[in-house]
Amino acid sequence: MEKKEKMNRFEQHARYKNKLALFVTLAAIALPMISFEERHLLLFNFYHNRFEILFFAFEVNTPLLASIFVVFAVCVILVFNFTYARYFCGHLCPKTILKNLFTEVIEGKIFKIIKQKNIQNETIDKKPLQTFFAYITLGVVTLAAPLPFFFYFIPYDIFMQSVLNAFVDAPLLGMFYGAISLYLFAEILFFKEFFCSYLCPYQLVHAITYNEEKSYYAFSDKEACIACDMCVKVCPVPDLDIKKGYDPRCIACGDCSAVCADMVEAKRSTPLLVYTDAKGVKNRSRFFSFAGKKKVLLLVAATLILGIGAIATLASQKNLTSCRFVNESLH
Ligand code: SF4
Ligand code: SF4
Repeated sequence: MEKKEKMNRFEQHARYKNKLALFVTLAAIALPMISFEERHLLLFNFYHNRFEILFFAFEVNTPLLASIFVVFAVCVILVFNFTYARYFCGHLCPKTILKNLFTEVIEGKIFKIIKQKNIQNETIDKKPLQTFFAYITLGVVTLAAPLPFFFYFIPYDIFMQSVLNAFVDAPLLGMFYGAISLYLFAEILFFKEFFCSYLCPYQLVHAITYNEEKSYYAFSDKEACIACDMCVKVCPVPDLDIKKGYDPRCIACGDCSAVCADMVEAKRSTPLLVYTDAKGVKNRSRFFSFAGKKKVLLLVAATLILGIGAIATLASQKNLTSCRFVNESLH
């Protein structure tokens, strides 16, 4: 009975993350599929050379469309960095969601390989057959995982046709797709959080825009620590010990804080590890990048105005030389 209560906060936290992940995944898959009169809600349509947003379509050539995508991606990265900072990485990032799907659902729930969720360095039960099938399942999942990503660049029905034809009509696209699948498989199984810590452009912007008001996980009461080390064991980032202080590799998943709350719950009502900033400011707004809401809103507004201005300028430069419209009269 006591053990069940001890895991409650961690399980609640995992459940919250899983629900959020399901919502984000469904929304991300649906977004490029929503269309009205052949115009999509959001599509960087490299197949027909047009940028489609909010059911409007702009004819642009490939370099212009690529530029529009870069501007759009930079704006998204900045807006999330100015608001939810690293919280995005631990809760909303597709790679984190995929990793959790493997460790928690495939390994944990389906094949029951890991004794406890997300515990790095945990002794894995010697179940070679289950492990083999877990890897096969991961292979199938990582084979399908890049699909939603490609739906943002090629209309999903056209792209699915290519997939069903085994990319015989577009071998380069097939190789690119295969490389992404393979990398995802290797990242989840072998490289762990290497991409999140060192390669991800979001992390790069996060590091550049670091400031004293940005939230991160830290001790609220170091003296009360019972040195159980559970916060280190549940951390998905290899060799990260958040007790030693701020570590830029932390993806703010909150697992350490949740498990800590379970560990010390007999003595206190709050965990020793909390999401705070260098000044220890409490009762902040729900934004995690700056303590003041005004600063966040100002930066977001500036990013959006500049981004929309840049995209409008690029989209207005019509260049039909490489445009392959089936039905130009629509535009
Ligand atoms: S230190 Fe805590 S919040 Fe950061 S990645 Fe590890 S478990 Fe997640
Ligand atoms: S989980 Fe909490 S009590 Fe246990 S070592 Fe980490 S900070 Fe200390």
